[in-house]
Amino acid sequence: MQSFGFAIDPRLEDKATEAEKSIKPVVARLNEVLIYNHAKVLNAFQAERVNDYHFNGTTGYGLSDQGRNTLDKVFARVFKTERALVRSQIVSGTHAIALCLYGVLRPGDELLCVTGAPYDTLEELIGIRGEAGGSLRELGITYCQVDLDAGGMPQLDKIAAAIKPQTKMVAIQRSRGYAWRNSVDIAQIKAIIEVVKNVNAQIVVFVDNCYGELVEKLEPTEVGADLVAGSLIKNLGGGIAPTGGYVAGLGHLVELAANRLTAPGIGSAVGASLGINRLLYQGLYLAPLVVGEALRGAVFAAALFASLGFAVSPDYAAERTDLIQAVKLGSPEGMVAFCQGLQRGSPIDAYVLPEPSGMPGYGDQVIMAGGTFIQGATSELSADGPIRQPYCVYLQGGLSYQYVRLGVLLAAQSLLDKGILKL
Ligand SMILES: *Cc1c(COP(=O)(O)O)cnc(C)c1O
Repeated sequence: MQSFGFAIDPRLEDKATEAEKSIKPVVARLNEVLIYNHAKVLNAFQAERVNDYHFNGTTGYGLSDQGRNTLDKVFARVFKTERALVRSQIVSGTHAIALCLYGVLRPGDELLCVTGAPYDTLEELIGIRGEAGGSLRELGITYCQVDLDAGGMPQLDKIAAAIKPQTKMVAIQRSRGYAWRNSVDIAQIKAIIEVVKNVNAQIVVFVDNCYGELVEKLEPTEVGADLVAGSLIKNLGGGIAPTGGYVAGLGHLVELAANRLTAPGIGSAVGASLGINRLLYQGLYLAPLVVGEALRGAVFAAALFASLGFAVSPDYAAERTDLIQAVKLGSPEGMVAFCQGLQRGSPIDAYVLPEPSGMPGYGDQVIMAGGTFIQGATSELSADGPIRQPYCVYLQGGLSYQYVRLGVLLAAQSLLDKGILKL
């Protein structure tokens, strides 16, 4: 019994050993990207001459905050963009994305999503669900959508045909979100951008980069995206950033986003960093490592659950562009059992039993497993999903591969205990 105090069926342990054997070539391939991205991040630190003065915080307006301003430049180097805005005052990924949409779009403009339905929390913001005051729709900004095809690929012809004179922004979601679909990799993002810019070079191409950062060698901004956004309690916070989000892209677009965060005129010049700078730097420094651990965990989970007879997406050997591993359980009970098992592998709140419930921003009931140091930091190790067809859980994150391995085995054990998994 390798799992020490954790009661795991020996047959599951055997399956885990087999899965680890089969993923070896994939892990080697991942490592090559990780080495590249570690160097990319280190280069950015050194080029901006990061020093310990930058860890000092400011108070009040936070004018001339050298640590904050330099961190913006470090992020801009990682993304190869003119500017970046990295702030603890950006409360989440949804907020970072909102800054970009509200920053750029004006009444009469159209937003075109070209990778199917946007992430759940953007529906109320755009105004396609609910009655939240202040949605884009209420401001006279229209919305149009092109779905992915049956194989999960962007439909380039339909995208070109959907562009109208009033199309101001095209939005691409890199990660699958809560959907049983492919994630959109950098090569596909590049192809979409070429099509869009060919029709109208003035269109702003925005990429929701949540969960995608540092998974491939290139970021969307290196293949023509004008603006990207994401959360610091996902990939780029490295499990260390206690809160925050970022925006990166063309200088004038990042400033428009900053004007929404604060106010026109003060934009990116204000925002006290208090004592958070070191954590944000250190999080970015560790981000390639943590992304690597999470990816290895996802690949293991894919191999294990496939061998147990569950449909998984992506397959363990597939090229990845995000951290998400979907596992189809096929029933609400399966989702609950999986999440309750994974929760037992958490350092925090391991004794609580996750149950489905409502969540701000989500239309369906959601179940979430994640006993994390930072509240809701799905990059630590989590599994969640809306209780709806096809009843999948989305597993992501992990600060160390070994913790993911254990958590995933506990999820499988829970399915076995409930009779949902038969060996
Ligand atoms: C997590 C996520 C978001 C929203 O981020 P929050 O930090 O939860 O607000 C948006 N888009 C995608 C694809 C995500 O994975």
